[in-house]
Amino acid sequence: MDRLQKVIAQAGVTSRRKAETLITEGKVKVNGKVVKELGTKVSGHDTIEVNGIPIEREAPVYYLLYKPTGVISSVSDDKGRKVVTDFFYDIQERIFPIGRLDYDTSGVLLLTNDGDFANLLMHPRYKVEKEYIVKVGGIPTKSSLRKLEKGIRLEDGVTAPAVVKLISSDRQKNTAVLSVTIHEGRNRQVRRMFEALGHRVLKLKRERYAFLTVQSMAPGEFRELKPHEVKRLR
Ligand code: URA
Repeated sequence: MDRLQKVIAQAGVTSRRKAETLITEGKVKVNGKVVKELGTKVSGHDTIEVNGIPIEREAPVYYLLYKPTGVISSVSDDKGRKVVTDFFYDIQERIFPIGRLDYDTSGVLLLTNDGDFANLLMHPRYKVEKEYIVKVGGIPTKSSLRKLEKGIRLEDGVTAPAVVKLISSDRQKNTAVLSVTIHEGRNRQVRRMFEALGHRVLKLKRERYAFLTVQSMAPGEFRELKPHEVKRLR
């Protein structure tokens, strides 16, 4: 048994908060009857309608994909390019990625059919730690690294403090590899942070999402999250 607002959010109809409003406004029916009580619990057998439309319920599933480069973080693409859900062709549930990695970025990407879980992890308040391994053109100076750590002004505001480590640099090729840990999830954030300092990103991999990594996996491989991993992320 789960709370009504959680089940509505899980089905991807809306956020838990907005589901609560819909319930108190009398827009939700359970087994044909309007329910305005927020504490109401429902089972898998109950039918739920929101604004007269039955919600589609599936057992929640959670996956970790090692996203390769050259794939769109979406469920479909109007240009016919490969999308991350293509890897899951024999899975019945209607899963979608939690957030996105750029077309040219590889690494950890979670997918689920649980809208409530996805909303939770993507909420800025939640602050999931993400570690990226970045290869850049040029070798950032100590002062540049400090700027990245403190926060850097981008067109959508100053970034939150980051943890930045120089892993290696190649003077001959004039490139460097760094680890950058952030908890924000703005569009193309890592690329824009380096571009703001005059460094082009040559390669970008999300090495870690919270405590999850793709170590010992191959690009394109996925696995189901273990129940204790899902619990730890919540
Ligand atoms: N930052 C980026 O610039 N791109 C990603 O895909 C993820 C983080």
